[in-house]
Amino acid sequence: MTSRQALDLRDYIRDIPDFPKPGIIFKDITPLLADGDAFCATISEMACHVPRETDALVGIESRGFIFGAGLAQQMCIGLVPVRKPGKLPADIHSIEYELEYGVDRLEIHRDALSSGHKVVIVDDLLATGGTVRATVDLVRQLGAEVVACLFVVELLALGGREKIPDVPTYSLITYE
Ligand code: AMP
Repeated sequence: MTSRQALDLRDYIRDIPDFPKPGIIFKDITPLLADGDAFCATISEMACHVPRETDALVGIESRGFIFGAGLAQQMCIGLVPVRKPGKLPADIHSIEYELEYGVDRLEIHRDALSSGHKVVIVDDLLATGGTVRATVDLVRQLGAEVVACLFVVELLALGGREKIPDVPTYSLITYE
């Protein structure tokens, strides 16, 4: 068994060039998920950045669900999914946001959050920040407060953090 202190989480994230399209270097977190010690260390480190007053985690589809669920289970905090269009069964609130080409939409159950909720948003990776910006706005439109955004990986060159200057943001691993 590996000592947790000796773990470098970077060793469990691999680059897949030209996926899902040419020119993109995809950060594949599946080796990290497959290693019990690395996954456990990741969740424990993320938990250190969840403010005490947090009463809900919001996971962004789909890899945000994996880390969000691990964190929710460890901290006994509920998890609210933010999903791509057409997946949530009950009454939804939705937001449209701009992609490089075109627009996309994210949805949340209207009754999932309300004013007074203090929320941490969780995703695997911060790139341009468009997805998390839309999620922050979605959560706020339901009246809840976003107390932090939490990522495993951040691609610094894409400047995603600048899209959410109004929210404390933490990432475990950064790449230039
Ligand atoms: P963005 O809105 O540009 O910050 O993109 C964030 C979302 O896209 C996250 O949910 C990531 O899972 C995914 N994503 C964007 N770029 C990458 C990448 N290079 N490798 C892996 N996932 C990515």
